[in-house]
Formats: sequence, C-alpha cells, structure tokens
Amino acid sequence: KRSWLSRLKSGLTKTSTNLTTLFIGARIDDELYEELESALLVSDAGVEATQWLLNALKKKVKDERLTEASQVRTALRALLIELLQPLQQPLVLGREKTMVMMIAGVNGVGKTTTIGKLAKHLQAHQQTVLLAAGDTFRAAAREQLTIWGERNNVSVISQESGDPAAVAFDAVHSAQARGINIVMIDTAGRLPTQLHLMDELKKVKRVIAKGMATAPHEVLLVIDGNTGQNALAQVKAFDDALGLTGLVVTKLDGTAKGGILAAIAKTRPVPLYFIGVGEQIEDLQPFNATEFVDALLS
Ligand code: GDP
Repeated sequence: KRSWLSRLKSGLTKTSTNLTTLFIGARIDDELYEELESALLVSDAGVEATQWLLNALKKKVKDERLTEASQVRTALRALLIELLQPLQQPLVLGREKTMVMMIAGVNGVGKTTTIGKLAKHLQAHQQTVLLAAGDTFRAAAREQLTIWGERNNVSVISQESGDPAAVAFDAVHSAQARGINIVMIDTAGRLPTQLHLMDELKKVKRVIAKGMATAPHEVLLVIDGNTGQNALAQVKAFDDALGLTGLVVTKLDGTAKGGILAAIAKTRPVPLYFIGVGEQIEDLQPFNATEFVDALLS
C-alpha cells in the first residue's frame, strides 16, 4: 500500500512537473521568471501569491547573487515554505472538558468523510467523540454520518426531520452530560433555494452558544483542493459569515494542483489543520508546510 506522502506527491504531479522542468538547464532570465509565473498561476496560486513569490525570488537572486538555476529552485523552495508556514498550526486538544466543533463546507467537498476520518484521528489521541447530523436537509448526509459513526464506534445524534439548530443544541447538551471530549457538528452544504445557507449556519452557531457559552470552540471549513479559486472564494465567504478557526483541504491526492494553499496563505490565512489524501479513514494528515512543498517540488 502506497504511503500517504507518495499519494500526495502523485496528486501534485502536474504542478511538480511544471515547476521541475522549468529549472533544468535554464538561464536566470526574464523567460525563466515568465515561465515560473505561468506555472504558479496554472497551479491555482492566484495573482497575489504569484506576484509575491516572483518579487521575493528576484530579490533573493539579486541579494544572494545566485547564478545557477538549481540555486533559484532552492530559493523558491525556501520562499514557498515561508509563505505556507503560517498555515501550519495544530488543532489543539484538551483545552475544554467538552470541545464543540462546527464543521462547514459545500456539498461534495468531502465534509462527511472528513468528519469520519477526524473521529478516528481524535480517538487515536485519547479523545471521546460524539457526532451530530446537523445536515437535516439531506437524508443521505444523515445516513453517511451514521455509517462513519458505526465504523468508529461513536454515537451519532440525529433527528428524522429536525431543525439543524435543534440537533446541534441537543448534541452540545448530550456531550456535556456524558462528559464527551469532542462533539463534531455536521452542517448543511446547500439548502432548498428559498433559504440562505449563511443565515442558517449563523443561526446554528448562535444556538450552539446558547447550549454552551464558550462554544463553538472551533469552526472548521472543509474545501476541495481540486476546485482552485472557487475554494478560495468559499474560504472568504464562510470566514466572513462564521469566523473560521481552521480549514481542512481534501483530495490533494487527486488531480489537485496545490497552489491553492499559497493563495489561501496570501489572502486569507486560516490555520490549515489537516489535509485529505485519500478516501480511507486513515487518509487525513496534519498539514506540514515543509513536507507539502517538498511534495510539490520533487
Ligand atoms: P460531502 O458532500 O462534503 O459530505 O462529501 P463526502 O464526504 O460524501 O465526499 C464526497 C466524495 O469525495 C466521496 O466519494 C469521498 O470518498 C471523496 N473524498 C473525500 N475526501 C477525499 C480525499 O481526501 N481524497 C479523495 N481522493 N477523495 C476524497
């Protein structure tokens, strides 16, 4: 079975190939910078991060009098790590007797799968876990979450046709009463058209705080690493509405280009707690900037 790191590497192959071939036998001239610029843009890094990287790289080449393309590549590696480092922040456990985590994300990004993987990860860190099926608009979402609950041997709070906020409130109370360490509340990723998703999610957040004044302790957004600038727009919209405390970027083992992390770091640096690198329960890894950049550049 391939390691998660090799799956991450193969997921990022396209960007990796673009960035590697660029430096082979290249002269350090405008053409190299232009090619690097388009490689970064094609990787979903976005205009701001791309310009920052190019300017910082040119300065470094000048200041350090770099003459070999391989040195430029090493300098780029250092700059990418510098750019992504602020995203590398762990999800801190054990701060509260019961920690309430609200998990948001549009449909299809891998939210339910991520909650399932997280439940396993947290249990491996000696945490007791409770799940809440807060996406009451989709029966399938509730069923999926129940399956992940069974796999992990954790309870799932759910109501046949309840109100999301009521499910969340119930879960917070239940977790406190049972002395559960972490309750993860799934939320809707799309609503019947007449309802506004962000308003609904804000309401869920308010009701969670009614159940426990300090909660939610974490508001996580799950995004799909394959969706490029669209994922960045989601980060901005959810952060504006809910005040995000953390991110999970999924499907980086697929055909993701990877640059989206640079765009997030430059424009909306929300801590990236975990990356998803496969469909299996163990395919969730804490984000590490150096590991990621090396996967991108090797
Ligand atoms: P939701 O609608 O956001 O709850 O999405 P799901 O959790 O149902 O996931 C949608 C699809 O993405 C499923 O087929 C998952 O197996 C898949 N998926 C989720 N995370 C990952 C990942 O990190 N890598 C890959 N390759 N697939 C993933």
